[in-house]
Amino acid sequence: MSGRTLTWIVDRHTGQLTVEGLDATEARALAGDLLPAPRAVNCARPLDPPPLPPYGTGPAGDGPTLRVVRLYHGLVVEGPGRRSVLQLGGCEHSCTGCFSEETHPLDSGVALPLPAVVAALLAPAGVPRDGITVLGGEPLLQPAGLAALLRALKGAGQHITLYTGYTLAALARRPDPLVREILALTDLLVDGRYVAALADGAGEWRGSRNQRIIPAPGDAARHLSTGRQFGAS
Ligand code: SF4
Repeated sequence: MSGRTLTWIVDRHTGQLTVEGLDATEARALAGDLLPAPRAVNCARPLDPPPLPPYGTGPAGDGPTLRVVRLYHGLVVEGPGRRSVLQLGGCEHSCTGCFSEETHPLDSGVALPLPAVVAALLAPAGVPRDGITVLGGEPLLQPAGLAALLRALKGAGQHITLYTGYTLAALARRPDPLVREILALTDLLVDGRYVAALADGAGEWRGSRNQRIIPAPGDAARHLSTGRQFGAS
C-alpha cells in the first residue's frame, strides 16, 4: 500500500464521512477499527439514494424530457465542493469494469420533464450546494434535453461539472451545435472512458488516470478545432 492514499472527506454540513482512494479490503486493513462494515456502492453514489421526483412535478407539455436513473444531493467526490448529482440513463461505451451497468440500456431510468428535473436538482435538500454534477450512463446521448437542462441551471447561477465517456477531441469534431452549446455551458468536463487498468491513483473526481479534468471545455474545444493547445489535468 506504500505510496497510496486513503482520503477522508467530512461533510461539514451533515457530518457524513466519505472515504476514497483504496478498495474496501485495503481500507479495512488500514483503518478497519474506525470504519463500518463495507457495502457495495457504485461510483460514489450515496448508500441510500432518495426516490426520483414523481411524474408531473413540473409541467411536461411538449418540452424536453430526460431519462433519469438517479438524482441525489450532498456528494463531495464528483466535482468541486458539495454537489447535487443527476445520473442519466443510456450508454454505449461498454467500458470493462463499469460500475453503472444498469444505466446502459437506452431506455433505462424514467423519462422526466425538464422542469421536474431542474426543481429536484435545486431543491432545498441540496443546500448548501456548490454546484451540479451530471453523469451517466452517457449524458451526451441526450443532447437536446441536456442542453436545455444546462441552460436552466446556468440561468440559476449553478456551477456545472459534466462527465462523459467521449474525449473532448471527439466531441470537438462533432458538427452538432447542441454539443458545442453543452460544452460552452459546462464549467468542468471530466472526459474519456473508464479504464480499469488505470484506476489506481486516478486522483480526485476521476475514475481512471486517462480521464482529464478540463475547465471551460467550450474554450478548449474551440482551441482544439484550430489546432492550439489547452490546459487539462
Ligand atoms: S462511460 Fe461510464 S457508464 Fe458508460 S460504460 Fe463507461 S464507465 Fe460505464
